[in-house]
Amino acid sequence: MSDKRTYVVLLGVPGAGKGTQAKLLEQCTGLPQVSTGDIFRYNLKNETELGKLAKSYMDRGDLVPDDVTIRMVRDRLQQPDCAQGAILDGFPRNLNQAAALDEMLAPHGGVSVAPLINLDDEETIRRITGRRTCRTCGAVYHILYNPPKVEGVCDIDGGELYQRDDDAEETVRNRLYVYYKQTAPLIGYYFAKGLLVEIDGAQAIEAVQQALLALLKRS
Ligand code: ADP
Ligand code: ADP
Repeated sequence: MSDKRTYVVLLGVPGAGKGTQAKLLEQCTGLPQVSTGDIFRYNLKNETELGKLAKSYMDRGDLVPDDVTIRMVRDRLQQPDCAQGAILDGFPRNLNQAAALDEMLAPHGGVSVAPLINLDDEETIRRITGRRTCRTCGAVYHILYNPPKVEGVCDIDGGELYQRDDDAEETVRNRLYVYYKQTAPLIGYYFAKGLLVEIDGAQAIEAVQQALLALLKRS
């Protein structure tokens, strides 16, 4: 018997706006944001075994090995707050992870929809190099497009805003390479399943959010 839940897989290049939108969708729908990048950064900050393992891959902009990442997501999706589904942000990142996710979600009706937030490379670089992240709550800002009320300070919890090490330009180039080589094939994968919906990521944050909410109402 299948108990149907809502699992949204947000796709898009690094910097497309997945994290920003996942947080907004979490507020509007009550479905939790499950961000593999945030979970890795939390473990890095707390110097856990997982954090130590992930660090060298993240510093280079490479993917953390699948066995570790898949196990981490499986555990996360079994938490009580994911009982109605989740907004997945940054997972899956390759075809192997997508197949593992399908297996995990099979008893719950599978992935509901896979919105692809489109953005060209030039704007992507501008987005990533201007990104600032809250050290304590992980909220995301942009120095020009989405600045905090007080420079360097998080609006939500007053935490310090910092630039992620892997948002430096050289690592960003490798992350884009990794995206096109390993993650972009997911576009065809979800298209073939009838789950892909393209959204123009160059629109304002609120417009992208409205497009996503309209999509969720239909799926
Ligand atoms: P962005 O959205 O800017 O690409 P993320 O926060 O999603 O950044 O990811 C940061 C880093 O964390 C990635 O470069 C990678 O090293 C690691 N990571 C995140 N998600 C995954 C995943 N699903 N599989 C493997 N590594 C991941
Ligand atoms: P991703 O999770 O896909 O890597 P983020 O959500 O972290 O992307 O967004 C990357 C940067 O771009 C952040 O600085 C964020 O504030 C900014 N941003 C996100 N969406 C938009 C948008 N629609 N317009 C302008 N800036 C945006």
